[in-house]
Amino acid sequence: HDPLTGLPNRLLFTDRAEQALASAQVHKRGCALLLLDLDHFKIINDSLGHNVGDQLLKQVSERLAGLFGPGVTLARLGGDEFAVLVESCPQVVQAAALAQRILDALREPFIFDGHQLFISASIGISLFPSDALSAEQLLRNADSALFKAKSVGREGYALYTEELTAHAQNRVEIASELRRALEQQELRVYYQPVHDLHNSRLIGVEALVRWQHPERGLVPPVEFIPIAERTGLIADIDAWVMDQACRQMCQWLADGVQLSFIAINVSSRLFARRELYEQVAQVLHTTGLDPAFLELEVTESAVMEDPEVALEQLHRLRELGLRLAIDDFGTGYSSLLRLKRLPVQKLKIDQGFVAGLPWDEDDAAIVRVVIALAKSMGMQVHAEGIEQVEQARFLLEQGCDMGQGYWFGRPMPAQDIDWHRAPPIQT
Ligand code: C2E
Ligand code: MG
Ligand code: MG
Repeated sequence: HDPLTGLPNRLLFTDRAEQALASAQVHKRGCALLLLDLDHFKIINDSLGHNVGDQLLKQVSERLAGLFGPGVTLARLGGDEFAVLVESCPQVVQAAALAQRILDALREPFIFDGHQLFISASIGISLFPSDALSAEQLLRNADSALFKAKSVGREGYALYTEELTAHAQNRVEIASELRRALEQQELRVYYQPVHDLHNSRLIGVEALVRWQHPERGLVPPVEFIPIAERTGLIADIDAWVMDQACRQMCQWLADGVQLSFIAINVSSRLFARRELYEQVAQVLHTTGLDPAFLELEVTESAVMEDPEVALEQLHRLRELGLRLAIDDFGTGYSSLLRLKRLPVQKLKIDQGFVAGLPWDEDDAAIVRVVIALAKSMGMQVHAEGIEQVEQARFLLEQGCDMGQGYWFGRPMPAQDIDWHRAPPIQT
């Protein structure tokens, strides 16, 4: 038991919960676990002292205990965290109603030495058997629901299941909206400058897709590319981006802009498909772009997922006369032997390693090794995510060829690019 309140502690509670679940299993009953956490308890503790804090916890536990009849176990798990196990809870509405009763009861002020203290709490709810089958998992789920309740403004409750369904709902919505987005031209291609680290000149751009959503505003690719990959819409999206980007590149070259390449991302989902080659050939044909200006980026994990297929695919693409780069290098567990056999001209160091430069010794060591590796295989090295001049300077000193990142310029619409920008790197 918890010495302060006399309630079951975490150990006893987990034990009782396991028993209750076993019995519920046999009798085909539903259970509910409510996890309650006082809002801003630390402030009370720090400003009024631990003595008042302790008294408050005692009063809270007494008030809560008064709400429950048999078949409900109340426990103090530690700090200002309480758990409530309801042994028979057929529907989610009962659990929600109980949570509301608890919140209402805590809204009444607590009295200390004639002073009134107002508090509030947040509650996370998880259900057996629909959310979890063990006490431990039930607690964990209730905890993530509690986190959600806190993050949407406290003094409320949140359901674990609802959290999941809302998430799934959102995905379904995005998937169906994406189709419309393509048809109604809501997608945009942004371009991020790539600079030569030796002279700081802008030498290339990477095409990055965006979704100009009528209500949500500009949606970044992490929020819709994974969904597009699952629904198969990625093929159309990547084809559209490639077409737009190649047209734009032709326009720039026609305008006399000194650019040596445009880089375009290819989803790993398309990578294994034969059509990729035909699609790229088609875009080059219709736009008339000289393939020497085109660079395709494939992620390291896509290549290593099925190295034999990758090898064949990359060779065929290479025959079109374009260049190939491995994106997010360092995150995909490459086999070095396989890497050596790939017809690839560039490695892009993942921004995760650039972030710690030049101070993080591990990042610095990894970056040095990747640069040496690329050089020894006759490939170019390109670092992503450069946000500070110190990072650019370190990369230059280590022999990295190219850099990309907010420090040089963010991804932006084609017309916003300043072709003459060349922020100095050397001191
Ligand atoms: P990526 O190809 O590795 O692109 C680099 C990402 O890093 C971009 O995010 C870029 O905006 C971001 N970034 C650039 N510089 C910095 C910096 O200094 N600091 C930080 N923190 N971030 C920086 P973005 O545009 O959100 O794209 C995310 C990922 O989505 C891309 O990673 C790429 O894998 C994918 N993606 C983008 N466009 C397309 C596309 O047209 N097709 C496919 N299949 N995937 C795409
Ligand atoms: Mg990329
Ligand atoms: Mg990358």
